[in-house]
Amino acid sequence: MTPAVLIVRPEVADEPLVRAARAAMPAAEARVTDADVRTVCPRIAPWRILVLDRFKGDLVKPLAPAECSLPGRAEAYLACGVNCPGRCRYCFLRTCATVPHPVFYANVEAMAAELDAALAAAPDLYVHLGHILDPLAYPFLSPLIGAFAAVLARHARATIELRTKWTAIDMLPAPPPPNLRVALSLAPARIARRYEPGTPSVKARLRALALLAERGYRAGVRLDPVLLFDGWEDDYAELCADILAALRAARDADIVLGTLRGPPDLISMIRAEDPGEVLRRGEFVRTHGGKLGYPRPLRRKALRFLAERLGTRFPVRVCGEPDDAAADTDGGARR
Ligand code: SF4
Repeated sequence: MTPAVLIVRPEVADEPLVRAARAAMPAAEARVTDADVRTVCPRIAPWRILVLDRFKGDLVKPLAPAECSLPGRAEAYLACGVNCPGRCRYCFLRTCATVPHPVFYANVEAMAAELDAALAAAPDLYVHLGHILDPLAYPFLSPLIGAFAAVLARHARATIELRTKWTAIDMLPAPPPPNLRVALSLAPARIARRYEPGTPSVKARLRALALLAERGYRAGVRLDPVLLFDGWEDDYAELCADILAALRAARDADIVLGTLRGPPDLISMIRAEDPGEVLRRGEFVRTHGGKLGYPRPLRRKALRFLAERLGTRFPVRVCGEPDDAAADTDGGARR
């Protein structure tokens, strides 16, 4: 993805990642400025802007307990930027990101040093890279991913899970680091076209997943959020079959499930744009932590349906379910 405008903050203008960005995206109009983004390009949609800024500390943040899926293991996410050029209607960043446009931090060494210190203090940490951004969305990010992978090589018990909807897997470090997992975020093609504008097609994502498996990466699949529109069973059954086919060569993969959930302001936003379909004509109920979600019987049914189809070869984990709706995916499949 190439943005229309690349805003570079002066204090990072000479960073190697900024030079890499300008070289990889010559069509982007680069402006080195401290000015407010909306005054620099008032008529450009936020998702067509990319800001490269200086990281000021606080890279490794704890994942909210309700979003964790590994019992007994600490989980955190990397805040090396925020947002992405996708426009997923259900994206929680729509209501909680502090800026509307994508931002990446460019002083890579400082971030790598902070990650190193965090993993020294918590050697078993499971780190999500892709919780508040997409690490493969732009074609210049391999130095950033490579720097994190180099840190990871010094901390054998830690894991980084890189999660993406993009398909530029040639940007990943090679050979595959043993404690790096690369997870593709997927949805049925029909629903992705409607709810995930600006992101690569599901077909391309499945192809990337198959390539990852063939190249020996520890692969992952994220079905999160699972969207329970009318007729979801047929679409998800087809997607599950496609996922298992893509993972045919995988020796190590895991699958994470989470049904659509969110704070009332996000759900209202989705409802205003799409009266009915994924929200099942108002069937949304208050679940936990102030969030709204599908009624528990429907969540249980969907999670069981997916776990039965996907858990035959690989472990299935559930996130966003502090109650017993996740229980039916338990047993040998969950870890
Ligand atoms: S790809 Fe991920 S980060 Fe980007 S808009 Fe979609 S859900 Fe949000």
